[in-house]
Amino acid sequence: MRPRYSLARRRAQQLLAEGGVTDAPVPLERLAELCRATIRYEPFDGEVSGMVHCRPDGGGVIGVNSEHSKTRQRFTIAHELGHLILHADEEFHIDEKRPLARRDAVSSQATDPREMEANQFAAELLMPAALVRASVEALVEDDPELTVEEAIDELASDYRVSTLAMTHRLTSLKIISSDDDVAG
Ligand SMILES: [Zn+2]
Repeated sequence: MRPRYSLARRRAQQLLAEGGVTDAPVPLERLAELCRATIRYEPFDGEVSGMVHCRPDGGGVIGVNSEHSKTRQRFTIAHELGHLILHADEEFHIDEKRPLARRDAVSSQATDPREMEANQFAAELLMPAALVRASVEALVEDDPELTVEEAIDELASDYRVSTLAMTHRLTSLKIISSDDDVAG
């Protein structure tokens, strides 16, 4: 199965529209409520970023590792919401970042279509393409001298995501090229 990226993006955009989101940062808790998802913050073992339990009648419970940074927690919640919306047939799903030593485990996770769809959903939900493009334009208009690195820092803080997540997003939206990728 190939990842259904456009479906993932569309579902994220629908949720943003439903929540009336027109500004950063995206109010993630409110959007989770709209999906009837309860968020539980718990100090999981360091390898677990999050998990989701989908109820058969819709909605569910999202667990997020409270030991991780706030920006990582936001990405995890958005990723689990993606599973809840796109993969509700799977009753329970756990996301675990495996030790780097176990290379094959890591690469199979990175190429799992469901993981790629949940990541695409999370990227669009937290950093909606249209909003990000408008923010970049406004930043450049405000200060044409702004460096790429400064712009990424500012955007990451406005959207409450990590600079790495914002760098990936700007690259995949082709707003910066990988040559500009000074932060990474
Ligand atoms: Zn996942």
